[in-house]
Amino acid sequence: MSEVRSTAQWQELDAKHHLHPFTDFKDLAEKGSRIIVKAEGVYIYDSEGNQILDGMAGLWCCNLGYDRKEIVDAVQQQLTELPFYNNFFQCSHPPSIELSRLITEIAPEHMNNVFYTNSGSEANDTVIRMIHRFWDLQEQPQRKTIIARKNGYHGSTIAAGSLGGMNGMHKQYATLPGIEHIDQPYWFGEGGDMDPAEFGVQVARQLEAKIDELGADKVAAFIAEPIQGAGGVIVPPETYWPEISRICKEKGILLVCDEVICGFGRTGEWFGSSYYGAEPDLMPFAKGVTNGYQPLGGVLVSDRVADVLKSKGGEFTHGFTYSGHPAACAAAIATIKSLREGKHIERVREETGPYLQKRWAELAEHPLVGETRGVGFLAALELVKNKETRERFDDDCTAGAICRDACTESGLVMRAVGDMMVVAPPLTMTKEQIDELVEKAKKALDITLSKLT
Ligand SMILES: *Cc1c(COP(=O)(O)O)cnc(C)c1O
Repeated sequence: MSEVRSTAQWQELDAKHHLHPFTDFKDLAEKGSRIIVKAEGVYIYDSEGNQILDGMAGLWCCNLGYDRKEIVDAVQQQLTELPFYNNFFQCSHPPSIELSRLITEIAPEHMNNVFYTNSGSEANDTVIRMIHRFWDLQEQPQRKTIIARKNGYHGSTIAAGSLGGMNGMHKQYATLPGIEHIDQPYWFGEGGDMDPAEFGVQVARQLEAKIDELGADKVAAFIAEPIQGAGGVIVPPETYWPEISRICKEKGILLVCDEVICGFGRTGEWFGSSYYGAEPDLMPFAKGVTNGYQPLGGVLVSDRVADVLKSKGGEFTHGFTYSGHPAACAAAIATIKSLREGKHIERVREETGPYLQKRWAELAEHPLVGETRGVGFLAALELVKNKETRERFDDDCTAGAICRDACTESGLVMRAVGDMMVVAPPLTMTKEQIDELVEKAKKALDITLSKLT
């Protein structure tokens, strides 16, 4: 256990010794970090005793909230019985075997194999390795280019960051060659006067154009999040995924759906690709798989890919010390059983998801809000100066930063992505707690408006 210190002491030590992810170190040292000391249900508590409603399920991962005794018990029991053994050198252990059975049971019917990593980033590195191996084994080694999307997020290792389309990240390192980015299906920001359905088809067809430009025999795969999360909960028009699926099938390239956020219930289905009726060849996952209680990621592999990898022979020279760590697998087994037995995903699909979307849509009446959107337990809104023209307040996304701080002051975690505000609450959130979320968001919007005008 950590020692008990005052907030000021924690902040000082934090600033002195701790380099945070995706953070301006200088800026944070000046402001001091918020120290989170406790969590219960759908609330977190800071060192000053403030109770804050967690509209982000941690970092899109604590889908069942924070007091899951069954997961704690499963991890504890596993650590007592077999705290570690690896899956290298022709060994295996019950938790990794049992999880593989369970996870392929909830996965789409054509996906019956899984490879484990410790994170979503590593899962996407693994995706690249598998794609290359798949085409090499079929004597098409020239098929190496992967098409991805601008403003997509696939993680922060060099490979995953290269697959992603975040300019700010690309500026800080040399990205991997062999990755091409096409536009995202972001109607509010980039659709102009076009009808959303027409826009969806048009951006999807950029994939076809890109494949034709590069030559279909050079293209290995297309990767996309069913709904972009970190990019701002970009919900594609309904026409988008059917067109993407058609193009991948016709051109014979692999389809990779990054399920790190959409997987494990977010959309009211087990996987976001199922929500859109897409049939991926590979599905990287992480985050919600263990309810955030242990680090675990992996790749679900379709029969099309697994049959090639398994039947051709030869070592797949890839893996991590902790691939399929027993405690992480135990946490995932307990999480999946809980999601299933508690019927949480069904509730999001039929009851609380539609309720959240209905209440969230009311925020569109606010003078600052240019659009609301969402699916299941994912939602976003756009902060604008002018609702008609979609004009922003400034280029520095001041509105988003003000609104995020106003949310925290109002006792709500809501994340700002530029001038978009996004939520991804625990799937366990009740209707009363959804009311609380929407009321607090309204209050934060009012504060933001008064600060901006
Ligand atoms: C978070 C995220 C990742 C990266 O996962 P890490 O566990 O942070 O490495 C990959 N893809 C998507 C869609 C994500 O949201």
